[in-house]
Amino acid sequence: MDVPQIRWTDGVKLPAARTALLVVDMQNDFVDPRGALPVPAAAGTVGPIAALLARAREAGVPVLYTQDWHLPDDPEFRIWPPHCVAGTWGAEVVDALAPQPGETRIRKTTYDPFFRTPLEPVLDELGVEELVIVGTVANICVLHAAASAALRGLRPVVPRDGVSALTKFDLHLAFHQVASLYRGVPLAGADGARFVPQARA
Ligand code: ZN
Repeated sequence: MDVPQIRWTDGVKLPAARTALLVVDMQNDFVDPRGALPVPAAAGTVGPIAALLARAREAGVPVLYTQDWHLPDDPEFRIWPPHCVAGTWGAEVVDALAPQPGETRIRKTTYDPFFRTPLEPVLDELGVEELVIVGTVANICVLHAAASAALRGLRPVVPRDGVSALTKFDLHLAFHQVASLYRGVPLAGADGARFVPQARA
């Protein structure tokens, strides 16, 4: 059985007025070694994500965060150990990537950040066409975010050093799906996302 290659893109120009940056589930339970469901590779993405956040904010690109946000008896806990219970330390975004005042937090109960959340109207209001997605877990909540965004007509742009998974297979699968199913851009590195200033129409 052949494993398909990913055709990485080195750089992509993104009109600042039509782009948003979505930081998926960079919460203590996933990123901190003391968390309930740690993804060991996630810590290595904090630096590239922080640098990307700084450049997005500088360019005036809206930054949005998702937080996995479960009740203590959430049905998802039949699949995974309890994690990101609403209001707990584990559900908070890691300090190194903390949202700034005024940045949108989307609290979600499933892998899909569009399900029963205000994400779609918020992106519509902003006029977003390009959605840069970073965070964890690559083949779970990041992939569902990319998929749901693409099915709504947005183009997902996903940098390799900005996402993490539990296995290399999972990471590879996520990028294959982003590229092949969702018209997305697998970016070789977050520094390849080039925000181009442009007056809002
Ligand atoms: Zn969850």
